[in-house]
Amino acid sequence: MGKQIPFLSLKHQHVDVEKRIHTAIRRVVNRGQFILGEEVRLFEKKYAAFTGVKFCAGAGNGFDALRMCLLATGVGPGDEVIVPSNTCLPTWLAVSAVGAKVIPVEPRPDTYNIDHTRLASALTARTKAIIPVHLYGQACEMAPIIAIAKKKDIAIIEDNAQGHGASYNGRLTGSFGVINATSFYPTKNLGALGDGGAVTTNDRALYEHSLELRNYGAESSIKAMNSRLDELQAAIVSLKLSKLAKWNKQRQAIAKIYLRDLSGVGDIVLPMIAPGSTHVFHLFVIRSKFRDKLRIYLNKKGIETKIHYPTPPHLQKAYAEGFHKGQFPISEMLAQTCLSIPLWPGLVQGSQRRIIESVRSFFGDESGKE
Ligand SMILES: *Cc1c(COP(=O)(O)O)cnc(C)c1O
Repeated sequence: MGKQIPFLSLKHQHVDVEKRIHTAIRRVVNRGQFILGEEVRLFEKKYAAFTGVKFCAGAGNGFDALRMCLLATGVGPGDEVIVPSNTCLPTWLAVSAVGAKVIPVEPRPDTYNIDHTRLASALTARTKAIIPVHLYGQACEMAPIIAIAKKKDIAIIEDNAQGHGASYNGRLTGSFGVINATSFYPTKNLGALGDGGAVTTNDRALYEHSLELRNYGAESSIKAMNSRLDELQAAIVSLKLSKLAKWNKQRQAIAKIYLRDLSGVGDIVLPMIAPGSTHVFHLFVIRSKFRDKLRIYLNKKGIETKIHYPTPPHLQKAYAEGFHKGQFPISEMLAQTCLSIPLWPGLVQGSQRRIIESVRSFFGDESGKE
């Protein structure tokens, strides 16, 4: 057995920007302002320009950014919000946190993203917003979602926590909704060295409302929250933003090799990329009926894998009231068959070969051995 291959390593990223990180930390410490100063202002400008929107407001984390989006658009008790049935828990929790009701819609089993053909039947007179999640790094098929939202006067709020740098028909994710949320949790494609998040929008009023929401309501009449991106994290995501394109390209190059060399192996289903969408491979998620055995086998070979996500939100204890098993069969099938294999900028070719060969040998396919 060779060296252990971790599911994810951030070491390579940090070596790439180590000097700049230390310089940035020293700059912030010397300046002595740690909340809502120059670094946050600068990052917000940069991130808005990167996303292709007019405004960005930093937030404490992705969950709060989602809450800020919902509150700013006036979503609250009595409202319904369409969410994917296949996503991580925070997307749902943010809706519940503002007192609205989650209306889950199943994904396409090939792209894992929300199936727009199922949207119409989920709409009611109370539908206030829809949250497309660019899951695993692939942009959702936005055109049909936008068409439905326009026709029914529903707000689109993107959950772009996993899609930094992904695009649909040439436009970056985080620029489609009326206001959109993202996270800079350390493992995301653009990650801080702690918690962080942001909202992006072209609407000045929603932007200004967000500034109030994150800072106790500022001078306004709203009873708001405290959720601020801090100066240190802003300085760090700011400098890492300049590397995002390079790191995403590395992710895509690794994904391309997986897509080529795992094609037709055993019963493996590979991620499909929808027409018009790009994928920045926050995660590389494959599927197999033999997922659990494959996972144990890879683990024995020193290859760490993960499952995103083992329990769909509707089967989480927090949502036991109101949902039941069998209600979202596609999401349940995905949860039982999906496996995330290592992919990160800096994963060396030798390691990737070992991962591919191990998957092949599990299925009794030795043809890839060199
Ligand atoms: C990470 C993530 C969040 C939450 O972000 P935090 O910064 O951890 O609060 C929300 N939605 C999705 C899809 C995520 O991946």
